[in-house]
Amino acid sequence: MNRAEMLNRVAERTTPWDMVIVGGGATGAGIAVDAASRGYDVLLLEQHDFGKGTSSRSTKLVHGGVRYLEQGNISLVMEALKERGIMRQNAPHLVGDLAFVVPNYDWWEAPFYGLGLKVYNVLAGKYGFGDSQMLSREETLERLPTIKTDGLRGGVVYYDGQFDDSRLLINLVQTAAEQGATLLNYARVTGFTQEPDGFLDGVIAIDEESGQEIRVSTRVVINATGPFADGVRRLTDPDVAPMIAPSQGVHLVFDRAFLPGRSAIMVPHTRDGRVMFAIPWHGHTLVGTTDTPIPEPALEPRAFDEEVAFILETAGQYLHRAPTREDVLSVSVGIRPLVRADGAASTAALSRDHTIHIERSGLLTVAGGKWTTYRHMAEDAVNQAAMLARLAEKTCVTRTLNIHGFHPHAEKFGALSVYGSDALAIQDLMRAHPPLGERLHPALPYTKAEVIWGVRVEMARSVEDVLARRCRALFLDSKAAVEMAPEVARLMAAELGEGDDWQRRQLAAFDETASCFRLT
Ligand SMILES: Cc1cc2nc3c(=O)[nH]c(=O)nc-3n(C[C@H](O)[C@H](O)[C@H](O)COP(=O)(O)OP(=O)(O)OC[C@H]3O[C@@H](n4cnc5c(N)ncnc54)[C@H](O)[C@@H]3O)c2cc1C
Repeated sequence: MNRAEMLNRVAERTTPWDMVIVGGGATGAGIAVDAASRGYDVLLLEQHDFGKGTSSRSTKLVHGGVRYLEQGNISLVMEALKERGIMRQNAPHLVGDLAFVVPNYDWWEAPFYGLGLKVYNVLAGKYGFGDSQMLSREETLERLPTIKTDGLRGGVVYYDGQFDDSRLLINLVQTAAEQGATLLNYARVTGFTQEPDGFLDGVIAIDEESGQEIRVSTRVVINATGPFADGVRRLTDPDVAPMIAPSQGVHLVFDRAFLPGRSAIMVPHTRDGRVMFAIPWHGHTLVGTTDTPIPEPALEPRAFDEEVAFILETAGQYLHRAPTREDVLSVSVGIRPLVRADGAASTAALSRDHTIHIERSGLLTVAGGKWTTYRHMAEDAVNQAAMLARLAEKTCVTRTLNIHGFHPHAEKFGALSVYGSDALAIQDLMRAHPPLGERLHPALPYTKAEVIWGVRVEMARSVEDVLARRCRALFLDSKAAVEMAPEVARLMAAELGEGDDWQRRQLAAFDETASCFRLT
């Protein structure tokens, strides 16, 4: 993938695109993969980097949602469990199984959760990830050596999926490109053009790098901007009733010592009645999340002190050594694109876990859902968009479409396993230029070769793109990421033909972003 080449394709296009997708998160990238693999001509425009929004800030679970089961929403759970299986089948290099232990401190918890989690597994049918089991106190301690022992009776273990969200996102963008889609990061949609009857026929965007306007014509526009969906809808009609109720969720990352085993902890009922997880992730411990309604979505949201305190307090109830603010290596905040219950909506074409809403102008908005169901959301959205634009009907093929990097045994690539089959090419880079095999920081496994790879192959344009979403340094250890930044800027500048000024601006911008990932 090369941004200049993508821009050229856009400039040279003389006929309308079949679809223009606004937003390069899981929803938009999934739609690009689906539409391009059916044979439609698609353009995706992302205002910042691919995955800058919620899709790099999830709990990293590929799951049916134990919480929905408790609410009795069986069909939703079954659908998500099926998608979980499809995701692991199509991207085994990034989606793996993880054991989750529900520790039991009250007598009723073992039978209650034991039965519920059996049902969860039965609902997965042939897509099951493994049987749930009751654990004795000793077995629970074996799996969770740092769990609080006072009053511990035992536990229940069940299996779900875990992934690296922004790595999967980048691989989806690559898959879409391989299927013929054109995808641009740093291209913010600022307006639309309309036919005399008011139907949208074009998109206006700004190339955030050059400042130049981009104008394209299209048969249909898909608004896949997640928490920002209402902002894009307002570009067609400033008075539209909002359909999104944004709510933010915080995660804290700690040293692996807080959860040294290979099992995660699932707390089914926190003080505010939510589910909370502590998960081993990339050699660290990820704990979250919260659910705080916010008035407006921000691209780089900040955690509220109460949210941090709540996560620390809950973790402290379960972990032998209660973590403190000083132990927090990184804090990240994502915004849920929840669809309002009252809806906007006279024309909601589909409404399940996700909602598809079509304006009078023909703008098709798809929002809600979750990462796990991105493929199914995309299938629904493309079906609706093709019908709306009167495109020739074409069958969805993504159920069995391998995602870029597909490799059944990627674990053999060690720290490069998240690249799947691309790991071989990165190893070649290191062999050809041995200094590229050097680590960027002693605390994290990332090498200089990955910076080069991110720029050459994965369309990384800034230090943040590399440190936050091509590798996950900023999400794992924000201080280490800041320390790595000057070398990353130097390597990138050499690749991109940029000078000292560019490096200085990049470092200042990265420091600003990194300040949102640490507690002050
Ligand atoms: C805290 C938290 C934890 C979660 N955990 C999980 C989990 O473990 N498992 C799971 O399955 N799901 C999880 N989810 C849900 C999942 O992450 C989201 O449903 C999903 O990422 C939403 O993707 P999206 O593409 O709709 O939105 P986003 O990822 O936010 O993408 C929207 C994109 O649109 C772009 N955009 C906005 N305006 C414009 C414009 N004018 N022009 C161009 N581009 C624009 C933004 O920059 C952004 O990149 C979690 C969500 C949160 C908040």
